[in-house]
Amino acid sequence: MKIQFTEREEKAFRKISEAAMQLGLPCYLIGGFVRDKILGRPTKDADFVCVGDALELATLAAKAFKPHPKVSLYKNFGTAHFRLSDGFDLEFVGARKESYQRHSRKPDVEPGTVEDDQKRRDFTINALAVSLNKEDYGNFVDPFNGLDDLKQGLIRTPLDPDQTFSDDPLRMMRAIRFACQLKFRIYPETFHAIKRNKDRIKIISQERITDELNKIILSEMPSIGFKLLYDTELLHIIFPQMIELAGAEFIEGKGHKDNFYHTLQVLDNVAERSDNLWLRWAAILHDIAKPATKRFEEGHGWTFHGHEVVGGRMVPKIFNQLKLPLGEQMKYVRKLVELHLRPISLTKENITDSAVRRLLFDAGEDFDDLMKLCESDITSKNRYKVNRYLQNFELVRERCKEVEENDKIRTWQPPITGEIIMQTFGLRPSKPVGIIKDAIKDAILDGQIPNNYEAAFAYMLQKGEECGLRANESGVRRQETGEAETSAE
Ligand code: ATP
Ligand code: MG
Repeated sequence: MKIQFTEREEKAFRKISEAAMQLGLPCYLIGGFVRDKILGRPTKDADFVCVGDALELATLAAKAFKPHPKVSLYKNFGTAHFRLSDGFDLEFVGARKESYQRHSRKPDVEPGTVEDDQKRRDFTINALAVSLNKEDYGNFVDPFNGLDDLKQGLIRTPLDPDQTFSDDPLRMMRAIRFACQLKFRIYPETFHAIKRNKDRIKIISQERITDELNKIILSEMPSIGFKLLYDTELLHIIFPQMIELAGAEFIEGKGHKDNFYHTLQVLDNVAERSDNLWLRWAAILHDIAKPATKRFEEGHGWTFHGHEVVGGRMVPKIFNQLKLPLGEQMKYVRKLVELHLRPISLTKENITDSAVRRLLFDAGEDFDDLMKLCESDITSKNRYKVNRYLQNFELVRERCKEVEENDKIRTWQPPITGEIIMQTFGLRPSKPVGIIKDAIKDAILDGQIPNNYEAAFAYMLQKGEECGLRANESGVRRQETGEAETSAE
């Protein structure tokens, strides 16, 4: 078997091979590029390992390309990088031998042979190299049978897995990430070593752990990764709230579904509908408060009242703990968790336009994503039921579309802002401002008053009075002349 390069790759590799020859440095392609080429997956960047000074090789190789790329040299790490004009990234490293101290993932490094360098790689499928040297250009250099493991779909460490994972525990996350992305199995000995070494993950920074977790979540079938995280018990350490979802309790012969497996099913369903990482996070977290809100009600069975609200409150805490971004993305996930039961309530009979408007207003721009989450939340094994529920949601979508076409609620803002309320009643930001604002919004959404400034202003004065507030002169005068406060627009 030979590796197949594209023309553009072949051209670039010949130039690098030429430069390596001139310097007398044996040079090899290695790592993700080789792996993904053989698997027929898209490749983004290529890694080269050379026996000697990688900085010197990169500097000379870059001169062979037109226009000359700018070479970045990282003397401390002994690595170099340049990017070709078409965006192809090339990384160079000198072959090295590593030894680790127990308390860190920073190894002591010294120059070594290609095989030394392959040994320090995480998995056999990532340690596979291709020679770029004249005498055997294009041949595999494969001391750890990476090719076989690629064919068999196996994740396995080149050396003793306990040593490999203890040296750099991030590799445990990487093993599971690759198994999930490539739909590979983890070799039993490698798997058991992850289980034995799981506690070592604590020396890895949260950012790196979360980075791998996000790659799992962005895979085609994220449940594969989560099941492995669960089975190796890494999940118990990195995301204990999710473990709480696992299992089903029985009282009086009545059980509830296992919410861990349900959540994974919802996540896979969302993954089929969307590549949006944050919508996938909403799937992971939609039922996160079920354990905290679980009750058994006599004669009724299991309930999880308010789990969407409690779950919403857990979102910022979990995002903070996992070092996920706390801005817009977090708010989006929280909102979807809080709203995830609302479309179901619209599948009942006799739904009023005002209920539809209210959902459109609350979901706003994220209405379509919310519907995708709800449709994914149907995990019954009964095909008939699934189809019926999906049809019900289709009706909700149609009804929402009609109302939206008339009322344009999704991007609508009530005509009276908090600013106007504060100025009219001489208030500082405070509770009554919110109460009056919500009352105006509700009155319009319920069709109690028309959706315009005048009606809303009059309604505000009435509500203010009910709260015992007095409108100041300027506020009332502005109403009379029909002039709105510009800063409040
Ligand atoms: P991808 O880029 O798709 O995440 P990759 O295999 O290219 O996959 P990189 O993180 O880019 O992964 O690393 C490039 C190569 O460096 C890997 O193929 C592997 O040989 C080696 N490598 C990366 N991280 C580690 C690690 N923690 N331990 C050992 N080797 C590693
Ligand atoms: Mg890579």
